[in-house]
Amino acid sequence: MAKNKVQFQKGYSLIELFKNYGSEEQCSAALFNWKWPHGFQCPDCGSSKYCSLKSRKLYQCNHCHHQTSLTSNTIFASTKLPLQTWFIAIYLITQSKTGLSALALKRQIGVSYNPAWKVKQKIMQVMKERDDTKPLSSSMMCIGVANSMEVNREEIPATKHLS
Ligand SMILES: [Zn+2]
Repeated sequence: MAKNKVQFQKGYSLIELFKNYGSEEQCSAALFNWKWPHGFQCPDCGSSKYCSLKSRKLYQCNHCHHQTSLTSNTIFASTKLPLQTWFIAIYLITQSKTGLSALALKRQIGVSYNPAWKVKQKIMQVMKERDDTKPLSSSMMCIGVANSMEVNREEIPATKHLS
């Protein structure tokens, strides 16, 4: 029972969050490293040679000209929110011991209710899948963020009734 386990856990401070992920560039760089830990790899042909189309945030394979984005196949894929907003949301949700309502998240990340609710649902789903130990590639990016924040699985409300 998570509630009985009172421990002083090594937290991840807001200061650290902003130091590591305080700009969109830092978030993009982190996502790039999680997505392609051994360098860019074309999802179509596997080539590692690419050029980046900065204006559209796309990476184009030099070999087959396939274009891919940093956020494709991640939970950030169909969103217009900046990565930094997502990272802050992941931080708030994973660090909250009692769970965070979509309404509270809305206020904290400065978006309207619907996007806040969607962000929360996606993150909670990924956290659940992570605990189900299903290696879903679409959730890997979020896992990377969560892992880097040293999330204790017992802090995640969605996992209470599993197993
Ligand atoms: Zn290619």
